[in-house]
Amino acid sequence: MIYLSSNARQLLKARYLRQTDGIETPDDLFKRVARHIVTVENENNDLWFDRFYKVMRNLEFLPNSPTLMNAGLPNGQLSACFVLPVEDNLNTIFTTLKNAALIHHNGGGTGYNFSKIRPKDDFISSSEGSSAGPVSFMKIYNTATEYVKQAGKRRGANMGILNINHSDIEEFISSKSDLQSLQNFNISVGITNDFMHALEEDKDWSLVNPRTNKISKTLSAKKLWDSIIEQALKTGDPGLIFLDTINQNNPLKKLGKIQSTNPCGEVPLFNYESCNLGSINLKKMILQNSTHIEIDWKKLERTIIIAIRFLDNVISCNYFVLPNIEEITLSNRKIGLGVMGWAELLILLDIPYASNKAVELAETVMKFIHEKSYNASQSLAKKRGCFPSWKQSSFAPHMILRNATCNSIAPTGSISIIANTSYAIEPLYALAFKRTGILENNTQMEINTTFIDKMKSLGLWSEQLRSEIIEKGSIQHVKNIPKHIKNLFKTSLEISWKYHLLHQSAFQRYTDNAVSKTINLPNTTTFKEVSEIYKTAWNYNLKGITIYRNGSRDNQVLQLCGFN
Ligand code: ADP
Repeated sequence: MIYLSSNARQLLKARYLRQTDGIETPDDLFKRVARHIVTVENENNDLWFDRFYKVMRNLEFLPNSPTLMNAGLPNGQLSACFVLPVEDNLNTIFTTLKNAALIHHNGGGTGYNFSKIRPKDDFISSSEGSSAGPVSFMKIYNTATEYVKQAGKRRGANMGILNINHSDIEEFISSKSDLQSLQNFNISVGITNDFMHALEEDKDWSLVNPRTNKISKTLSAKKLWDSIIEQALKTGDPGLIFLDTINQNNPLKKLGKIQSTNPCGEVPLFNYESCNLGSINLKKMILQNSTHIEIDWKKLERTIIIAIRFLDNVISCNYFVLPNIEEITLSNRKIGLGVMGWAELLILLDIPYASNKAVELAETVMKFIHEKSYNASQSLAKKRGCFPSWKQSSFAPHMILRNATCNSIAPTGSISIIANTSYAIEPLYALAFKRTGILENNTQMEINTTFIDKMKSLGLWSEQLRSEIIEKGSIQHVKNIPKHIKNLFKTSLEISWKYHLLHQSAFQRYTDNAVSKTINLPNTTTFKEVSEIYKTAWNYNLKGITIYRNGSRDNQVLQLCGFN
């Protein structure tokens, strides 16, 4: 019998369970996925089927949504993350638009860097006209996304990047200012180390027309930075992606520079490259007796070995929407194993999120996951061979690997609901909240079940507490609750941004791809603080940064990655 929360059941029914040939049960779904993934195995198929099925059924590991939705279907596209090229001509702009529509329709999300497009009002020789510029083309992509639903279920998602030296960067920075435009895009400014140094030294910064390579404008780096901060404070966009940090850590430098990530930022990819993700539910990785709870490292290791094999199999039994995607994805075999339920694990271990102990444990846990993931990928390489571009990678000649990357921390916006656990590495957003937008026309009141269990075990649970939590979503104001319990249950907005960033940084240190995290901030957060957050993110060698100030957008969904 699978334990699933009522939210999980509703979500599965609305989006994941097959409705043809009789209605699938959640158990059928996990079997369908395991049956498909195990087709890659040459021996011990029953054993591997059982392992793949059980980690999903026990909600210990879940692959990204497209795998759950599409595995076993004809032409089942199983990956969540794609990057597509955008060149300075109508041909690639509209070819990529068509390809993005195909990917969205099949459940994936797409990222692009628009920096090669000539600026608005620039000269076009063939028509003697003037060009529309990157932001206009993004609007076309946005509109197309609006109308291509994923098998009628959810809208696609995009990441749009423009580099900090592009002539149109100022227009780009404020392109979501009205809170109406580009709603199907996360936008990020592509930041270079040169720019950050110019900012530190309060120097001028030049904007360049990519067609002519000529400077179109010079302004102070600080002025440009301030306009980013102002918009981020106002709307949450733009975020930043740190291109030099990404490329310094690119294991395939010989194949060129990476210019973009997928929509939520956790996977830097080459043009046409795709990546499939999966997440371990840390809340389930515990040893528990009546008095004591600790991390079950053996179980975690076993789960990692199964998960890495699962994700590597996904590449082999995937359906690729385009030959270009197939070629580079099969050549690099990137996968992204991450985590969900981090905040709930900390609660079970009695460690407040906003504490140095939690940050230290974050590093220990991710270091372990990283090491064991690489060991697992190495064992696969021995049996199945290295990823084909391995010789060109920084791992050659000494370290064999099956996958060019192994780890990403995805937002787990949907799969954490299925697993009834906290999102990725995020603190609890609230102890009780209405989750709107997950399913259209549906508003759910939820109280976190880990919170209820803990309060019951402490003899602190009462109907009165339930009403107070439903009203406020927090226990910080409740009398008669000991201080250390209040600390344990501090929610996202009650936790200083410093700890949000320290957690992101601890996980990033041992994540070869990137970490998707939203730094959730109280409404009262100042311009100066946002500026400090963005600068600290660069100093911490993060690959990207996203903030969200509470209440800064209308119709706030439980804010995570901007998609619902
Ligand atoms: P899930 O929980 O559904 O597996 P995540 O929230 O972890 O997905 O997001 C992982 C990645 O999946 C995102 O970075 C993005 O590439 C893709 N993705 C998420 N939501 C969407 C969406 N609505 N449409 C298309 N792709 C999406």
